[in-house]
Amino acid sequence: MLKGAFMVTIQNYVRAQSIDEAYELNQKKGSCIIGGMLWTKMQDRLIQTAIDMCDLGLDKIEEKDDEFIIGAMASLRQIELHDGLNKYTHGAVCEAVKDIVGVQFRNLATIGGSIWGRFGFSDILTVFLAMDAFVELYNGGMIPLREFVNMKQDRDVIVHLIIRKTPGVFAYASVRNQRTDFPVIACSASCVDGEYRLAVGARPGRAMLVLDEEGLLSGRPASPFRSPAWKRGVAAAAVALLCLLVSVTYLNRSGQDTDPNLLTRQNSETATTLVTTLEDGSVVYLAGNTSLKFPEHFSSDRREVSLQGNALFDVAGNHKRPFIIETEDTRIEVLGTAFNVKSNDSSPFELSVQRGEVKVTLKKDGQNIHVKAGETVTRLSRRLQLSMTPDPALFDRYTKRIRFKDEKLGNILRVINLQNPDIQLETTPELWNRTLTVTFSNDTPEAMAELICLALDLKKTRQDNMILLFN
Ligand SMILES: Cc1cc2nc3c(=O)[nH]c(=O)nc-3n(C[C@H](O)[C@H](O)[C@H](O)COP(=O)(O)OP(=O)(O)OC[C@H]3O[C@@H](n4cnc5c(N)ncnc54)[C@H](O)[C@@H]3O)c2cc1C
Repeated sequence: MLKGAFMVTIQNYVRAQSIDEAYELNQKKGSCIIGGMLWTKMQDRLIQTAIDMCDLGLDKIEEKDDEFIIGAMASLRQIELHDGLNKYTHGAVCEAVKDIVGVQFRNLATIGGSIWGRFGFSDILTVFLAMDAFVELYNGGMIPLREFVNMKQDRDVIVHLIIRKTPGVFAYASVRNQRTDFPVIACSASCVDGEYRLAVGARPGRAMLVLDEEGLLSGRPASPFRSPAWKRGVAAAAVALLCLLVSVTYLNRSGQDTDPNLLTRQNSETATTLVTTLEDGSVVYLAGNTSLKFPEHFSSDRREVSLQGNALFDVAGNHKRPFIIETEDTRIEVLGTAFNVKSNDSSPFELSVQRGEVKVTLKKDGQNIHVKAGETVTRLSRRLQLSMTPDPALFDRYTKRIRFKDEKLGNILRVINLQNPDIQLETTPELWNRTLTVTFSNDTPEAMAELICLALDLKKTRQDNMILLFN
Protein backbone atom coordinates (compact mmCIF):
# COMPACT_ATOMS: atom_id res chain seq x y z
CA MET A 1 0.00 0.00 0.00
CA LEU A 2 1.43 3.36 -0.97
CA LYS A 3 0.65 6.34 1.23
CA GLY A 4 0.06 9.68 -0.39
CA ALA A 5 -2.62 11.74 -2.04
CA PHE A 6 -3.58 8.72 -4.09
CA MET A 7 -3.92 5.23 -2.74
CA VAL A 8 -2.82 2.14 -4.60
CA THR A 9 -3.72 -1.09 -2.83
CA ILE A 10 -1.84 -4.20 -3.91
CA GLN A 11 -3.30 -7.53 -2.80
CA ASN A 12 -0.61 -9.88 -4.17
CA TYR A 13 2.90 -8.99 -5.20
CA VAL A 14 4.67 -11.50 -7.46
CA ARG A 15 8.25 -11.43 -8.72
CA ALA A 16 7.78 -13.33 -11.96
CA GLN A 17 10.44 -15.96 -12.65
CA SER A 18 9.88 -16.02 -16.40
CA ILE A 19 8.29 -13.76 -18.99
CA ASP A 20 5.82 -16.55 -19.62
CA GLU A 21 4.74 -16.42 -15.96
CA ALA A 22 4.45 -12.61 -16.13
CA TYR A 23 2.33 -12.87 -19.27
CA GLU A 24 0.05 -15.59 -17.83
CA LEU A 25 -0.51 -13.66 -14.60
CA ASN A 26 -1.20 -10.48 -16.57
CA GLN A 27 -4.11 -12.10 -18.45
CA LYS A 28 -6.32 -11.79 -15.35
CA LYS A 29 -8.34 -8.63 -14.96
CA GLY A 30 -7.00 -6.85 -11.89
CA SER A 31 -3.39 -7.83 -12.64
CA CYS A 32 -0.85 -5.21 -13.55
CA ILE A 33 2.77 -5.27 -14.68
CA ILE A 34 4.71 -2.77 -12.59
CA GLY A 35 7.69 -0.87 -13.92
CA GLY A 36 8.86 2.07 -11.81
CA MET A 37 5.21 2.51 -10.66
CA LEU A 38 5.60 6.27 -11.02
CA TRP A 39 2.56 6.62 -13.21
CA THR A 40 0.61 3.76 -11.66
CA LYS A 41 0.76 5.31 -8.20
CA MET A 42 -0.80 8.57 -9.43
CA GLN A 43 -4.29 7.09 -9.13
CA ASP A 44 -6.70 5.49 -6.66
CA ARG A 45 -6.50 1.88 -7.68
CA LEU A 46 -6.88 -1.69 -6.45
CA ILE A 47 -4.33 -4.06 -8.00
CA GLN A 48 -5.08 -7.70 -7.35
CA THR A 49 -1.73 -8.98 -8.59
CA ALA A 50 1.24 -6.69 -9.12
CA ILE A 51 3.71 -8.40 -11.43
CA ASP A 52 7.32 -7.33 -11.01
CA MET A 53 9.75 -8.37 -13.77
CA CYS A 54 12.85 -7.22 -11.88
CA ASP A 55 14.34 -10.76 -11.77
CA LEU A 56 14.24 -11.29 -15.53
CA GLY A 57 17.38 -9.44 -16.59
CA LEU A 58 15.33 -6.91 -18.56
CA ASP A 59 17.08 -3.91 -17.01
CA LYS A 60 19.91 -3.87 -19.56
CA ILE A 61 20.73 -2.06 -22.78
CA GLU A 62 22.58 -4.34 -25.16
CA GLU A 63 24.43 -2.80 -28.09
CA LYS A 64 24.98 -5.04 -31.12
CA ASP A 65 26.53 -4.23 -34.49
CA ASP A 66 23.17 -3.48 -36.05
CA GLU A 67 20.82 -2.66 -33.16
CA PHE A 68 20.24 -1.64 -29.55
CA ILE A 69 18.12 -3.99 -27.46
CA ILE A 70 16.66 -2.08 -24.55
CA GLY A 71 15.08 -4.22 -21.81
CA ALA A 72 11.59 -3.14 -20.70
CA MET A 73 12.86 -2.64 -17.14
CA ALA A 74 15.78 -0.38 -18.17
CA SER A 75 15.38 3.04 -16.59
CA LEU A 76 15.10 6.37 -18.36
CA ARG A 77 18.35 7.35 -16.66
CA GLN A 78 20.12 4.38 -18.30
CA ILE A 79 19.09 5.52 -21.77
CA GLU A 80 19.96 9.13 -20.92
CA LEU A 81 23.53 8.09 -20.04
CA HIS A 82 24.08 5.34 -22.62
CA ASP A 83 27.11 6.28 -24.70
CA GLY A 84 26.35 4.14 -27.74
CA LEU A 85 22.72 5.18 -27.95
CA ASN A 86 23.55 8.84 -27.65
CA LYS A 87 26.38 8.59 -30.13
CA TYR A 88 24.11 6.93 -32.68
CA THR A 89 21.29 9.44 -32.10
CA HIS A 90 23.59 12.49 -31.92
CA GLY A 91 22.48 13.09 -28.33
CA ALA A 92 18.78 13.18 -29.25
CA VAL A 93 17.84 10.51 -26.68
CA CYS A 94 19.60 12.34 -23.85
CA GLU A 95 17.99 15.62 -24.97
CA ALA A 96 14.55 14.01 -24.91
CA VAL A 97 14.93 12.49 -21.46
CA LYS A 98 16.98 15.01 -19.48
CA ASP A 99 14.07 17.24 -18.44
CA ILE A 100 11.71 14.49 -17.31
CA VAL A 101 11.14 15.47 -13.66
CA GLY A 102 14.50 14.77 -11.96
CA VAL A 103 17.36 12.27 -11.72
CA GLN A 104 15.79 10.20 -8.91
CA PHE A 105 12.60 9.96 -10.95
CA ARG A 106 14.46 8.90 -14.09
CA ASN A 107 16.33 6.27 -12.06
CA LEU A 108 12.96 4.60 -11.40
CA ALA A 109 10.82 5.21 -14.49
CA THR A 110 11.18 2.33 -16.94
CA ILE A 111 11.22 2.28 -20.71
CA GLY A 112 8.50 -0.44 -20.67
CA GLY A 113 6.12 1.73 -18.59
CA SER A 114 6.89 4.78 -20.71
CA ILE A 115 6.20 3.04 -24.02
CA TRP A 116 3.20 1.10 -22.71
CA GLY A 117 1.48 4.20 -21.40
CA ARG A 118 1.42 5.82 -24.88
CA PHE A 119 1.11 9.10 -23.00
CA GLY A 120 0.06 12.14 -25.01
CA PHE A 121 2.86 14.18 -23.44
CA SER A 122 5.55 11.54 -23.99
CA ASP A 123 9.05 12.68 -24.90
CA ILE A 124 10.01 9.01 -25.13
CA LEU A 125 7.54 8.06 -27.85
CA THR A 126 8.37 11.24 -29.75
CA VAL A 127 12.11 10.69 -29.85
CA PHE A 128 11.97 7.00 -30.78
CA LEU A 129 9.24 7.43 -33.41
CA ALA A 130 11.65 9.16 -35.73
CA MET A 131 13.98 6.13 -35.56
CA ASP A 132 13.71 2.58 -36.83
CA ALA A 133 12.22 1.43 -33.55
CA PHE A 134 10.32 -1.77 -32.76
CA VAL A 135 8.42 -2.94 -29.70
CA GLU A 136 8.93 -6.59 -28.86
CA LEU A 137 5.73 -7.94 -27.30
CA TYR A 138 5.78 -11.36 -25.63
CA ASN A 139 2.68 -12.56 -27.49
CA GLY A 140 2.36 -10.06 -30.32
CA GLY A 141 5.95 -10.32 -31.54
CA MET A 142 7.90 -7.47 -33.10
CA ILE A 143 5.74 -4.43 -33.94
CA PRO A 144 7.09 -1.19 -35.46
CA LEU A 145 6.76 1.56 -32.85
CA ARG A 146 4.83 3.69 -35.34
CA GLU A 147 2.11 0.98 -35.36
CA PHE A 148 2.30 0.27 -31.65
CA VAL A 149 1.58 3.92 -30.81
CA ASN A 150 -1.88 3.60 -32.35
CA MET A 151 -2.73 0.13 -31.01
CA LYS A 152 -5.23 -0.20 -28.18
CA GLN A 153 -3.82 -1.21 -24.80
CA ASP A 154 -4.27 -4.97 -24.23
CA ARG A 155 -2.80 -7.49 -21.77
CA ASP A 156 0.41 -8.29 -23.65
CA VAL A 157 3.84 -7.66 -22.08
CA ILE A 158 6.58 -5.46 -23.53
CA VAL A 159 9.87 -7.33 -23.41
CA HIS A 160 12.23 -5.03 -25.31
CA LEU A 161 12.41 -1.87 -27.33
CA ILE A 162 14.68 -2.41 -30.32
CA ILE A 163 16.40 0.42 -32.15
CA ARG A 164 17.91 -0.57 -35.50
CA LYS A 165 21.15 1.20 -36.30
CA THR A 166 20.04 2.30 -39.75
CA PRO A 167 22.46 5.06 -40.79
CA GLY A 168 20.81 8.39 -40.08
CA VAL A 169 20.92 11.73 -38.33
CA PHE A 170 18.66 12.83 -35.49
CA ALA A 171 17.62 15.94 -33.56
CA TYR A 172 15.21 16.53 -30.69
CA ALA A 173 13.73 19.57 -28.98
CA SER A 174 10.81 20.33 -26.73
CA VAL A 175 9.19 23.47 -25.41
CA ARG A 176 8.41 23.52 -21.70
CA ASN A 177 6.98 26.30 -19.56
CA GLN A 178 9.78 25.52 -17.16
CA ARG A 179 12.42 22.83 -17.08
CA THR A 180 10.94 19.54 -15.78
CA ASP A 181 7.35 20.50 -16.70
CA PHE A 182 5.46 18.31 -19.13
CA PRO A 183 6.35 19.46 -22.65
CA VAL A 184 4.03 21.95 -24.34
CA ILE A 185 5.25 20.52 -27.63
CA ALA A 186 7.90 17.94 -28.41
CA CYS A 187 9.49 17.26 -31.74
CA SER A 188 12.09 14.95 -33.16
CA ALA A 189 13.37 14.92 -36.71
CA SER A 190 15.55 12.47 -38.53
CA CYS A 191 16.89 11.58 -41.89
CA VAL A 192 17.14 7.78 -41.89
CA ASP A 193 18.34 6.04 -45.03
CA GLY A 194 17.51 9.18 -47.00
CA GLU A 195 13.96 9.44 -45.59
CA TYR A 196 13.07 12.56 -43.61
CA ARG A 197 10.77 11.99 -40.65
CA LEU A 198 9.23 14.37 -38.16
CA ALA A 199 7.61 13.09 -34.98
CA VAL A 200 5.47 15.58 -33.10
CA GLY A 201 4.37 14.85 -29.55
CA ALA A 202 2.50 16.65 -26.78
CA ARG A 203 0.42 18.28 -29.55
CA PRO A 204 -1.43 17.74 -27.11
CA GLY A 205 -2.05 14.17 -28.10
CA ARG A 206 -0.01 11.05 -28.73
CA ALA A 207 3.08 11.53 -30.78
CA MET A 208 2.50 11.15 -34.49
CA LEU A 209 4.90 10.62 -37.32
CA VAL A 210 4.94 12.83 -40.40
CA LEU A 211 6.88 11.65 -43.41
CA ASP A 212 8.25 14.00 -45.99
CA GLU A 213 6.15 12.40 -48.72
CA GLU A 214 6.28 15.41 -51.01
CA GLY A 215 10.04 15.72 -50.73
CA LEU A 216 9.88 19.22 -49.20
CA LEU A 217 12.96 18.66 -47.06
CA SER A 218 14.90 16.47 -49.43
CA GLY A 219 14.25 18.70 -52.44
CA ARG A 220 13.25 15.71 -54.52
CA PRO A 221 14.54 14.17 -56.66
CA ALA A 222 16.70 13.15 -53.72
CA SER A 223 20.34 13.88 -54.29
CA PRO A 224 22.70 11.10 -53.32
CA PHE A 225 25.37 13.73 -52.74
CA ARG A 226 23.73 15.41 -49.72
CA SER A 227 26.22 15.16 -46.89
CA PRO A 228 25.28 13.81 -43.43
CA ALA A 229 26.03 17.26 -42.02
CA TRP A 230 23.54 18.83 -44.43
CA LYS A 231 20.89 16.26 -43.52
CA ARG A 232 21.55 16.77 -39.85
CA GLY A 233 21.23 20.52 -40.35
CA VAL A 234 17.86 20.05 -42.06
CA ALA A 235 16.64 17.79 -39.24
CA ALA A 236 17.78 20.21 -36.57
CA ALA A 237 16.32 23.18 -38.42
CA ALA A 238 12.98 21.42 -38.79
CA VAL A 239 12.85 20.74 -35.06
CA ALA A 240 13.90 24.26 -34.16
CA LEU A 241 11.42 25.83 -36.55
CA LEU A 242 8.52 23.78 -35.29
CA CYS A 243 9.35 24.48 -31.66
CA LEU A 244 9.82 28.16 -32.39
CA LEU A 245 6.45 28.40 -34.11
CA VAL A 246 4.76 26.66 -31.24
CA SER A 247 6.53 28.75 -28.59
CA VAL A 248 5.51 31.95 -30.29
CA THR A 249 1.89 30.82 -30.63
CA TYR A 250 1.85 29.59 -27.07
CA LEU A 251 3.39 32.69 -25.56
CA ASN A 252 1.11 34.93 -27.55
CA ARG A 253 -1.89 33.03 -26.23
CA SER A 254 -0.76 33.17 -22.64
CA GLY A 255 -1.36 36.82 -21.79
CA GLN A 256 0.37 36.75 -18.42
CA ASP A 257 3.67 35.58 -19.82
CA THR A 258 3.84 38.52 -22.17
CA ASP A 259 2.49 41.15 -19.78
CA PRO A 260 5.39 43.60 -19.56
CA ASN A 261 4.02 45.07 -16.33
CA LEU A 262 4.53 41.87 -14.36
CA LEU A 263 7.74 41.09 -12.52
CA THR A 264 8.91 37.50 -12.10
CA ARG A 265 10.79 36.01 -9.17
CA GLN A 266 12.06 32.53 -9.84
CA ASN A 267 13.92 30.12 -7.61
CA SER A 268 15.70 27.51 -9.69
CA GLU A 269 17.79 26.23 -6.77
CA THR A 270 16.37 23.43 -4.68
CA ALA A 271 18.75 23.75 -1.71
CA THR A 272 17.50 27.16 -0.57
CA THR A 273 14.26 29.13 -0.31
CA LEU A 274 14.27 32.46 -2.15
CA VAL A 275 12.63 35.14 -0.01
CA THR A 276 10.89 38.10 -1.64
CA THR A 277 9.11 41.03 -0.02
CA LEU A 278 6.29 42.50 -2.12
CA GLU A 279 5.32 46.15 -2.35
CA ASP A 280 2.69 45.79 0.41
CA GLY A 281 5.14 44.15 2.84
CA SER A 282 3.89 40.57 2.25
CA VAL A 283 6.73 38.06 2.34
CA VAL A 284 6.88 35.07 -0.02
CA TYR A 285 9.27 32.13 0.52
CA LEU A 286 9.71 30.41 -2.85
CA ALA A 287 10.76 26.75 -2.74
CA GLY A 288 12.99 25.29 -5.49
CA ASN A 289 11.70 25.32 -9.08
CA THR A 290 9.02 27.84 -8.22
CA SER A 291 8.11 31.12 -9.83
CA LEU A 292 5.95 34.02 -8.76
CA LYS A 293 4.60 36.78 -11.01
CA PHE A 294 3.46 40.03 -9.48
CA PRO A 295 2.99 43.68 -10.47
CA GLU A 296 5.50 46.26 -9.33
CA HIS A 297 2.54 48.22 -7.90
CA PHE A 298 -0.66 46.53 -6.74
CA SER A 299 -3.99 48.09 -7.78
CA SER A 300 -5.95 50.10 -5.24
CA ASP A 301 -8.61 47.45 -4.55
CA ARG A 302 -6.74 44.16 -4.76
CA ARG A 303 -3.30 42.56 -4.65
CA GLU A 304 -2.96 39.87 -7.32
CA VAL A 305 -0.08 37.46 -7.94
CA SER A 306 0.28 34.14 -9.75
CA LEU A 307 2.24 31.14 -8.53
CA GLN A 308 3.74 28.10 -10.17
CA GLY A 309 5.32 25.73 -7.66
CA ASN A 310 5.48 25.66 -3.88
CA ALA A 311 5.67 28.67 -1.59
CA LEU A 312 5.02 29.92 1.92
CA PHE A 313 3.13 33.23 2.05
CA ASP A 314 3.13 35.64 4.98
CA VAL A 315 0.56 38.15 3.78
CA ALA A 316 0.36 41.65 5.24
CA GLY A 317 -3.18 42.22 6.57
CA ASN A 318 -5.36 44.67 4.60
CA HIS A 319 -9.11 44.02 4.63
CA LYS A 320 -9.73 46.63 1.94
CA ARG A 321 -7.33 45.06 -0.55
CA PRO A 322 -7.72 41.27 -0.65
CA PHE A 323 -4.63 39.31 -1.63
CA ILE A 324 -5.36 36.89 -4.47
CA ILE A 325 -3.11 34.09 -5.70
CA GLU A 326 -3.82 32.43 -9.01
CA THR A 327 -2.45 28.94 -9.54
CA GLU A 328 -3.12 26.83 -12.61
CA ASP A 329 -6.34 25.33 -11.20
CA THR A 330 -7.21 27.38 -8.16
CA ARG A 331 -7.78 30.88 -6.89
CA ILE A 332 -6.80 31.69 -3.31
CA GLU A 333 -8.22 34.74 -1.51
CA VAL A 334 -6.55 35.99 1.62
CA LEU A 335 -7.14 38.80 4.06
CA GLY A 336 -3.95 38.57 6.16
CA THR A 337 -2.36 35.30 7.12
CA ALA A 338 0.48 32.79 6.72
CA PHE A 339 0.07 29.66 4.66
CA ASN A 340 1.87 27.24 2.41
CA VAL A 341 0.80 26.45 -1.18
CA LYS A 342 1.91 23.48 -3.27
CA SER A 343 0.94 23.97 -6.89
CA ASN A 344 3.59 22.12 -8.86
CA ASP A 345 2.75 19.70 -11.64
CA SER A 346 4.11 16.58 -10.01
CA SER A 347 1.78 16.47 -6.99
CA PRO A 348 -1.82 17.46 -6.25
CA PHE A 349 -2.58 21.03 -5.19
CA GLU A 350 -2.26 21.44 -1.40
CA LEU A 351 -2.57 24.45 0.92
CA SER A 352 -1.91 24.51 4.68
CA VAL A 353 -2.74 27.53 6.83
CA GLN A 354 -0.38 28.55 9.64
CA ARG A 355 -2.27 31.67 10.79
CA GLY A 356 -5.56 33.31 9.79
CA GLU A 357 -7.95 32.03 7.14
CA VAL A 358 -8.06 31.74 3.35
CA LYS A 359 -10.64 30.83 0.75
CA VAL A 360 -9.65 28.40 -2.02
CA THR A 361 -11.77 28.14 -5.18
CA LEU A 362 -11.44 25.53 -7.92
CA LYS A 363 -11.47 27.45 -11.19
CA LYS A 364 -13.02 24.55 -13.09
CA ASP A 365 -16.33 24.22 -11.25
CA GLY A 366 -16.31 27.02 -8.67
CA GLN A 367 -16.16 24.67 -5.63
CA ASN A 368 -14.75 26.67 -2.73
CA ILE A 369 -13.66 25.98 0.79
CA HIS A 370 -12.54 28.10 3.76
CA VAL A 371 -9.32 26.89 5.39
CA LYS A 372 -8.37 27.92 8.94
CA ALA A 373 -5.12 27.77 10.92
CA GLY A 374 -4.04 24.15 11.49
CA GLU A 375 -6.04 22.90 8.47
CA THR A 376 -4.92 21.66 5.07
CA VAL A 377 -6.93 21.51 1.86
CA THR A 378 -5.93 19.07 -0.87
CA ARG A 379 -7.31 18.57 -4.34
CA LEU A 380 -8.16 14.89 -4.63
CA SER A 381 -9.87 13.47 -7.71
CA ARG A 382 -10.75 17.00 -8.80
CA ARG A 383 -12.47 17.87 -5.48
CA LEU A 384 -11.15 19.94 -2.59
CA GLN A 385 -10.86 18.05 0.69
CA LEU A 386 -10.19 19.49 4.14
CA SER A 387 -8.12 17.79 6.86
CA MET A 388 -5.99 18.71 9.86
CA THR A 389 -2.41 19.62 8.86
CA PRO A 390 -0.53 16.36 9.42
CA ASP A 391 2.91 17.89 9.90
CA PRO A 392 3.00 21.43 11.35
CA ALA A 393 6.81 21.40 10.88
CA LEU A 394 6.24 21.80 7.14
CA PHE A 395 6.31 25.59 7.54
CA ASP A 396 9.83 25.47 9.07
CA ARG A 397 11.23 23.84 5.95
CA TYR A 398 10.81 27.12 4.11
CA THR A 399 12.75 29.15 6.64
CA LYS A 400 15.79 26.93 7.34
CA ARG A 401 17.98 27.86 4.37
CA ILE A 402 16.87 31.20 3.00
CA ARG A 403 18.33 33.30 0.23
CA PHE A 404 17.78 36.94 -0.67
CA LYS A 405 18.63 38.25 -4.12
CA ASP A 406 19.28 41.99 -4.58
CA GLU A 407 16.93 42.56 -1.64
CA LYS A 408 16.70 45.78 0.35
CA LEU A 409 18.36 45.61 3.77
CA GLY A 410 15.15 46.86 5.43
CA ASN A 411 13.20 43.91 3.95
CA ILE A 412 15.89 41.40 4.92
CA LEU A 413 15.90 42.57 8.54
CA ARG A 414 12.10 42.45 8.65
CA VAL A 415 12.07 38.82 7.52
CA ILE A 416 14.77 37.88 10.04
CA ASN A 417 12.77 39.59 12.80
CA LEU A 418 9.57 37.77 11.79
CA GLN A 419 11.39 34.46 12.27
CA ASN A 420 13.17 35.48 15.50
CA PRO A 421 10.84 37.56 17.66
CA ASP A 422 13.18 37.34 20.70
CA ILE A 423 16.01 39.38 19.14
CA GLN A 424 15.30 42.24 16.74
CA LEU A 425 17.79 43.53 14.14
CA GLU A 426 17.47 47.24 13.34
CA THR A 427 19.28 49.71 11.13
CA THR A 428 19.27 53.43 10.43
CA PRO A 429 16.83 54.78 7.76
CA GLU A 430 19.55 55.76 5.27
CA LEU A 431 20.64 52.09 5.09
CA TRP A 432 17.15 50.61 4.49
CA ASN A 433 17.50 50.69 0.70
CA ARG A 434 21.02 49.23 0.50
CA THR A 435 20.65 45.96 -1.44
CA LEU A 436 22.24 42.62 -0.68
CA THR A 437 22.38 39.06 -2.03
CA VAL A 438 22.94 36.64 0.82
CA THR A 439 22.15 33.10 2.01
CA PHE A 440 21.51 32.13 5.64
CA SER A 441 21.63 28.53 6.71
CA ASN A 442 19.81 28.06 10.00
CA ASP A 443 21.94 30.89 11.46
CA THR A 444 21.23 32.69 14.73
CA PRO A 445 20.18 36.37 14.51
CA GLU A 446 23.65 37.30 15.87
CA ALA A 447 25.38 35.30 13.11
CA MET A 448 23.11 36.85 10.46
CA ALA A 449 23.90 40.35 11.77
CA GLU A 450 27.60 39.52 11.58
CA LEU A 451 27.29 38.30 7.97
CA ILE A 452 25.37 41.40 6.90
CA CYS A 453 27.98 43.68 8.52
CA LEU A 454 30.77 41.86 6.69
CA ALA A 455 28.96 42.03 3.36
CA LEU A 456 27.99 45.72 3.58
CA ASP A 457 30.95 46.87 5.65
CA LEU A 458 28.77 47.99 8.57
CA LYS A 459 29.28 48.07 12.34
CA LYS A 460 26.94 46.72 14.98
CA THR A 461 26.11 47.25 18.58
CA ARG A 462 23.79 45.33 20.93
CA GLN A 463 21.37 46.82 23.46
CA ASP A 464 19.42 44.17 25.39
CA ASN A 465 17.47 42.22 22.74
CA MET A 466 18.14 44.69 19.91
CA ILE A 467 21.12 44.62 17.52
CA LEU A 468 21.64 47.88 15.63
CA LEU A 469 23.54 47.87 12.33
CA PHE A 470 25.04 51.21 11.33
CA ASN A 471 27.63 52.83 9.06
C1 LIG B 1 4.72 13.52 -12.45
C2 LIG B 1 5.15 12.88 -13.75
C3 LIG B 1 5.74 13.66 -14.73
C4 LIG B 1 6.12 13.08 -15.94
N1 LIG B 1 6.69 13.85 -16.92
C5 LIG B 1 7.02 13.30 -18.10
C6 LIG B 1 7.59 14.08 -19.15
O1 LIG B 1 7.79 15.29 -19.04
N2 LIG B 1 7.92 13.45 -20.31
C7 LIG B 1 7.71 12.11 -20.50
O2 LIG B 1 8.00 11.57 -21.56
N3 LIG B 1 7.20 11.35 -19.52
C8 LIG B 1 6.84 11.91 -18.34
N4 LIG B 1 6.27 11.13 -17.35
C9 LIG B 1 6.09 9.68 -17.61
C10 LIG B 1 7.26 8.92 -17.00
O3 LIG B 1 8.44 9.27 -17.64
C11 LIG B 1 7.11 7.41 -17.14
O4 LIG B 1 6.92 7.15 -18.47
C12 LIG B 1 5.95 6.88 -16.42
O5 LIG B 1 6.07 7.22 -15.06
C13 LIG B 1 5.82 5.37 -16.60
O6 LIG B 1 6.99 4.69 -16.20
P1 LIG B 1 6.97 3.67 -14.99
O7 LIG B 1 8.16 2.78 -15.11
O8 LIG B 1 6.82 4.39 -13.72
O9 LIG B 1 5.65 2.82 -15.34
P2 LIG B 1 4.54 2.26 -14.37
O10 LIG B 1 3.81 3.36 -13.70
O11 LIG B 1 5.08 1.18 -13.53
O12 LIG B 1 3.60 1.60 -15.50
C14 LIG B 1 2.83 2.40 -16.38
C15 LIG B 1 1.88 1.46 -17.18
O13 LIG B 1 2.63 0.62 -18.05
C16 LIG B 1 2.36 -0.75 -17.77
N5 LIG B 1 3.62 -1.46 -17.96
C17 LIG B 1 4.81 -1.18 -17.36
N6 LIG B 1 5.78 -1.98 -17.84
C18 LIG B 1 5.18 -2.79 -18.74
C19 LIG B 1 5.63 -3.85 -19.59
N7 LIG B 1 6.92 -4.23 -19.62
N8 LIG B 1 4.73 -4.47 -20.38
C20 LIG B 1 3.42 -4.11 -20.36
N9 LIG B 1 2.93 -3.12 -19.60
C21 LIG B 1 3.80 -2.47 -18.81
C22 LIG B 1 1.85 -0.78 -16.35
O14 LIG B 1 1.01 -1.92 -16.12
C23 LIG B 1 1.07 0.51 -16.29
O15 LIG B 1 -0.20 0.35 -16.88
C24 LIG B 1 5.88 11.68 -16.15
C25 LIG B 1 5.30 10.90 -15.14
C26 LIG B 1 4.93 11.48 -13.95
C27 LIG B 1 4.32 10.59 -12.89
